[in-house]
Amino acid sequence: MEYAKKTGWIEVICGSMFSGKTEELIRRMRRVQFAQRSLAIFKPKIDTRYSVEEVVSHDAKSIKSITVSCSAEILEHTLAGGVEVIGIDEAQFLDNGIIEVAQTLANQGVRVIIAGLDTDFRGIPFGPMPYLMAIAEYVTKEHAICVHCGDLANHSHRLTKSDKIVELGEKDIYEPVCRHCFNKLKKKNAD
Ligand code: ZN
Repeated sequence: MEYAKKTGWIEVICGSMFSGKTEELIRRMRRVQFAQRSLAIFKPKIDTRYSVEEVVSHDAKSIKSITVSCSAEILEHTLAGGVEVIGIDEAQFLDNGIIEVAQTLANQGVRVIIAGLDTDFRGIPFGPMPYLMAIAEYVTKEHAICVHCGDLANHSHRLTKSDKIVELGEKDIYEPVCRHCFNKLKKKNAD
């Protein structure tokens, strides 16, 4: 296989709910816009909060995005469009094919920026995220603030009793908590 001279790479931005992952993705993509590079932002179909056409963060800054139903669509869109930089939001909801797609695009010179939840509400690595973190050149862990004690939060505690892995919601369903408070709440819920 012939490799292009220009080299791409993979960046992962991860953390709990309300840690500012999407804000950081948008910040990086805005800088790409300033640099006048061609870009595209993708998000999985499952995330229907707020808007289907824009990546919207909690503070309402937004940037246009393409909704995809599987990772292969990201590859098609990017290669067909000659895109130099891509952003992917809520990557934890994508199929595992995203790992190969990210590798292929980076190998072809594309800068791939991926944002997503590192763990689910049980504290277990979420979907393709652990693999993406392993193959990325750069990994950024964002933190929220624990609503119980004010320490840095690394977990998304679910306030409802549902045990479905995917339960879309905002502050009505999730709260950011630190390791200590997460374990305390888990023990309390088990009692
Ligand atoms: Zn805490």
